[in-house]
Amino acid sequence: MAFFSMRQVLDEAAKGGYGVGAFNVNNMEQIQAIMEAARETKSPVIIQASRGARSYSQDKFLYHLMLAANELYPEIPLVMHLDHGNSVETCKSAIDLGFTSVMMDGSLMPDGKTPASFDHNVKTTREVVEMGHAKGVTVEGEIGVLGGVEDGHGAGGSGLEHVTDPDQAVEFVERTGVDALAIAIGTSHGAYKFSKKPDGSVLKMGVLLEIHKRLPKVHLVMHGSSSVPKELQDVINKYGGHLKETWGVPIEEIQLGIRNGVRKINVDTDNRLAITGAIRKVFAESPEKFDPRDYLKPAREAMKKVVAERMVQFGQAGHAGDLREPVSLAEMAKKYAQAVVGV
Ligand SMILES: [Zn+2]
Repeated sequence: MAFFSMRQVLDEAAKGGYGVGAFNVNNMEQIQAIMEAARETKSPVIIQASRGARSYSQDKFLYHLMLAANELYPEIPLVMHLDHGNSVETCKSAIDLGFTSVMMDGSLMPDGKTPASFDHNVKTTREVVEMGHAKGVTVEGEIGVLGGVEDGHGAGGSGLEHVTDPDQAVEFVERTGVDALAIAIGTSHGAYKFSKKPDGSVLKMGVLLEIHKRLPKVHLVMHGSSSVPKELQDVINKYGGHLKETWGVPIEEIQLGIRNGVRKINVDTDNRLAITGAIRKVFAESPEKFDPRDYLKPAREAMKKVVAERMVQFGQAGHAGDLREPVSLAEMAKKYAQAVVGV
């Protein structure tokens, strides 16, 4: 079966009122962990790769691992998505490789660090939308700027410096035609999101609610949405790691978002923490071991557990069967040309 377009999966999620986790990968074990979690919970899923992941895996390794995932788990609707494309060229290379969905992050300049002007963002995103939709590929854009840095991408700083302005969000969607919109409501990439448990005064959920009210048909995306649970931090620190105390995005806030138009939730850090904790534990408890499988298996299992838990919390669990056949990209392209997508 072919990969699903993200648009099809998110449209279905909107109908069902649930969110879909988008999990980042770099290697085989991470892909296996996600697919096993999807099978166990019967979930549709988005697997995404950043530019860093594509370069780490030389693109082709990743792509062929994704083909294997699709072949081995035919009952799981699977989207292959580019996370944070920095330029039209990056998005084009992903589409050429076979990604069925791309993010053009024009909120930053192509260096992936400097906040860009609104006009730059509209122009580059519009270009990717025209190119992507002509091929049936889904396009996610971003308005406002996330905090922190991940895989060398990000403006750094706190997530509260460039919170999305709802007026701009409306104009951005009208001028670009994006399928999904990442908004900045105070979250950051990476493990160090908040220095205390974030409450209503820290996360700008009001901004999210306002944007959803004004753009009820647009699929909203929450980036930097790992919850950074204390248990995962504790395992790492117990076995020789050194993480400073930190807080992520509480699940309840994500669920509030899902009730208000959030359809895609990006999670990476939680999985990284789970993997690292599991490996540290083996190294600390069994220093005589040297077969990589002795620590990669528990690492894979630890990540699977976190992903399965998120799938249940986001509500996508049990919904794999809602999506029987992917609408082909050629068919999606026709729908975009006739402006009947999502109708
Ligand atoms: Zn992101």
